Amino acid sequence: MAQTFDLVVLGAGPAGYVAAIRAAQLGMSVVCIDNNVDKSGKAALGGTCLNVGCIPSKALLESSEHFARCKVELKEHGITTGETRMDVPAMIDRKDKIVHGLATGVGTLFAKNKVVSMLGTGRLAGGLRVEVTSVGGGSGETIEGKHILIATGSSPRDIDAVPTDGKVIVDSTGALDFEAVPEKLVVIGAGVIGLELGSVWRRLGSNVVLLEAMETFLPGADEQIAELAFKEMTRQGLDIRLGARVLSAKAGKGGVKVSYESGAGKQDVEVSKLVVAVGRKPNTQGLDAGNVGLLLDERGYIHVDEYCRTNLPNIFAVGDVVRGPMLAHKASEEGVMVVERIAGQESRVNYDTIPWVIYTAPEIAWAGKTERQLRSQAREYKVGVFPLSANGRARAMGHTVGLTKILVDRRSDRILGVHIMAPMASELIAEAVLAMEFGASAEDLQRTVHAHPSLAETTHEAALAADGRPLNYHG
Ligand code: FAD
Ligand code: NAD
Repeated sequence: MAQTFDLVVLGAGPAGYVAAIRAAQLGMSVVCIDNNVDKSGKAALGGTCLNVGCIPSKALLESSEHFARCKVELKEHGITTGETRMDVPAMIDRKDKIVHGLATGVGTLFAKNKVVSMLGTGRLAGGLRVEVTSVGGGSGETIEGKHILIATGSSPRDIDAVPTDGKVIVDSTGALDFEAVPEKLVVIGAGVIGLELGSVWRRLGSNVVLLEAMETFLPGADEQIAELAFKEMTRQGLDIRLGARVLSAKAGKGGVKVSYESGAGKQDVEVSKLVVAVGRKPNTQGLDAGNVGLLLDERGYIHVDEYCRTNLPNIFAVGDVVRGPMLAHKASEEGVMVVERIAGQESRVNYDTIPWVIYTAPEIAWAGKTERQLRSQAREYKVGVFPLSANGRARAMGHTVGLTKILVDRRSDRILGVHIMAPMASELIAEAVLAMEFGASAEDLQRTVHAHPSLAETTHEAALAADGRPLNYHG
């Protein structure tokens, strides 16, 4: 007899583990099956985000930012220290400890919430049955659920011309584990991972070249901020080459020879490490989607509706394995929505206010519409911009590159989009998300008291600027 649960969750990333906990809170019996193991072969819950994504990358960004500050900024504050040196293995060890602590924490949360955690790979076996094989590929066990939630996430996309070898040609996971600072590093792709991990190794002294196929830099971001970010990243030493088509990469003894073509013709670069960061693909292989009739869309994602229902009854899919931004918080919110709906609630995800953050220095964050989108919809809107250089807190911090921009509906005064380039933009954007979630107007933000001096005052001032009346800036 197959073990039966109210809910079988496949994948313990931010989509699956959060859904499993919420389902247990709602009184369901839940099993969560995940096949991820750590360097020592032990189960490591938390998915891509916790093990090889959001958390380790932010740990390295933090360490490298401290290093860069010591090297470059402390003098300006009148601080003299000894020679600044980076112990890369110690930095990696710190990152691994943070990851391990949080992954263990997910296990504890499972235990406290009575979620059954199972190490193995799940495959749809028809109806509401799942066959689980052990990670090494051993014998199978069949489990049955009243509902199934697929949250199998995504993996790095590869390029045929540049096969990774896990040593000198690596994906984002490899770039989180270098044993030393590569003298010269090429990253293929100047997207989020390229900029974040490129920044880590650049700050530590590597010569970093980003080869980006598109002619436009950060096409999803606000155009003014993308332009400013390009200048700032270039000033920090990232050599960003747009319109670059990689032809081949050959690993040799001392490194890799990368050949690419751009407006300047065919070029070769010799580097010590090559990182491929050209996007991610949904993990649907091995699910047996074809056999059980689970519909995938034309790009290989599991086809779902706005409530993350697949074409099969009582089978749902959430997170990176379905359409929409590949972001941890989007994944979690979808997981919560699905299980709350199973429990009879009318939950939904507001896809219009999902915040995006790029954790460069300064950080770049946005939510809602861009000007490009509003123009294409022929919407009439007002723009309020406040530069960081006019903000007292930013000046005290010595970080004055950036701005806050608010886009406002000209007729209703409703906030349509907020774009920030500033230190801690990841934190500042929360106010904008909340404002939009509550349908706030620019006037609501104008009348909200903001602490002084704080970076959040740039949001207040940008709202005032949308009506042509900023108080601390005259543009
Ligand atoms: P995943 O986190 O990929 O989890 C899926 C889990 O399912 C994995 O453990 C996988 O091993 C397991 N699995 C797969 N198939 C099976 C199967 N058949 N049976 C059992 N288990 C299976 N997002 C942000 O929002 N902020 C960030 O700062 C950020 N930084 C990132 C940095 C990097 C370097 C990377 C690579 C990604 C980053 N992301 C970030 C994206 C984020 O990691 C993903 O959006 C998020 O992890 C998606 O969650 P998920 O639960 O859908 O999938
Ligand atoms: P991405 O989509 O952000 O960037 C990939 C870049 O590679 C794009 O600019 C694309 O034009 C370029 N590219 C594609 N093929 C190429 C080729 N052959 N040669 C040169 N350039 C090429 O993807 P990513 O940076 O790999 O990140 C993957 C996902 O992980 C993203 O969807 C992102 O949402 C998520 N992520 C999020 C964060 C965050 O929230 N801070 C951080 C890292 C990753």
